[in-house]
Amino acid sequence: MHYIYIYLLGIVFVIIELLLLFFYIRFKKKSNQNSLNPSQISEQDYSFIFKSINEGIIVIDKNLNISLFNPAAESITGWQLNDVLKMNIKLMIKLLDDKNKPVSDQDNPFIKVFNTKQNVRNTNLQIVNKDTSTISVSINAFPIKQNDQVTSAIILLRDIDEEKKEEEQLVDFISTASHEMRTPVAAIEGYLSLAMNTKISNIDNNVRDYLQKAYMATSHLGQLFQDLLTSAKAEDGRLTNHPQVIEMGSFLKQLTEDLKFSAQKKGLKIELVIGSEEKIKNEIVNEKNILPFYYVYADPDRLREVITNLFDNAVKFTPEGGITIGITADQNIVQIFVRDTGIGIPSEDINHLFQKFYRIDNTATRTIGGTGLGLFIAKKILELYNGKIWVESELKKGSTFYINLPKLNDSQVEELNHKITDLNNGVG
Ligand code: ADP
Repeated sequence: MHYIYIYLLGIVFVIIELLLLFFYIRFKKKSNQNSLNPSQISEQDYSFIFKSINEGIIVIDKNLNISLFNPAAESITGWQLNDVLKMNIKLMIKLLDDKNKPVSDQDNPFIKVFNTKQNVRNTNLQIVNKDTSTISVSINAFPIKQNDQVTSAIILLRDIDEEKKEEEQLVDFISTASHEMRTPVAAIEGYLSLAMNTKISNIDNNVRDYLQKAYMATSHLGQLFQDLLTSAKAEDGRLTNHPQVIEMGSFLKQLTEDLKFSAQKKGLKIELVIGSEEKIKNEIVNEKNILPFYYVYADPDRLREVITNLFDNAVKFTPEGGITIGITADQNIVQIFVRDTGIGIPSEDINHLFQKFYRIDNTATRTIGGTGLGLFIAKKILELYNGKIWVESELKKGSTFYINLPKLNDSQVEELNHKITDLNNGVG
């Protein structure tokens, strides 16, 4: 009897399991039917997505003629599909850079995507609309390849006018706020140094110590406001900039003389290498073409700011050893480097170093003052002169910051000097 119960119970369990399995299979089948399977998306679905997406989608062929233009592209540009179909995109959609200058063919993403055969992305462009108004856009161009040949390209167009305006307002606010706050901070700094002056006030050592600390904190605040102001100006293109022809060899010689004391005070050796043996990094160099003069076109005050920042950092982050400032060139590029034997930079931080407020978080940087804006400002300044900056570093061995600037040839030097003389004499 007992065995019969166990037997019946077993049968009930098997039935329940079979029922569960049946429902599971049905449920799975149904959910598969409901989910989007790319192979089952119909042409109608694609057309719906193409029409309802709020990002402009344009397809062009290798002659730059437009073959697809979705409603979002129509509302961004003001052109209707009928106006642009089979028309050359370069003629229909004129592009301006962030300085309102027409974008050259070399930098035009519609052309570049065919030349480079790679995705091209640019978030600093404006398009001129049908009604000649301009609008800030982000452009992503994707190549479509057949047998390694780009046969057409998909252009994604995003209206970023609002984002840009908000960014500008923020930069404006930072600029005004830091400008207003610099004045009282400078006054506090002045009064504190008066209070510490033994000829004016009689204070005991304890009070002097407190005042000294207050003075240091206030100068840090003053530097932060100054850097904030400079970086805000750099971002909205209001940085004062009076470029002229500079011979970088003699410029660096003078600058090294001015800077060396802070390093020597710390016991660091200073070396200046003009026309170094070092090959230009990332550029092809022909040794025979190295010339004794290194002419560039930039504002000397701005370049001084950049190199002083690199040098100050090298001093701050180098406990012992030395700092080398060097310059070399090939036909097209003047390269300056600032090398130290300091603490080095972890590889994971290198890509972020030129971002605003980026400071590496370690025991060394926690005790060493700074705002994290110096390298961001340096990068922005160098961009004014089509230059670039980057760093190579090894932990505990040291870092080398490189700057590349376009090199002027003799006739460019002569032409620019003439222009400047003419301007000073009121000609032209
Ligand atoms: P700041 O020096 O005011 O903090 P910077 O933008 O000039 O700002 O530098 C950002 C960070 O990069 C520094 O805080 C430091 O962590 C790192 N750094 C810069 N230069 C060096 C260097 N020569 N050696 C090691 N770390 C450096």
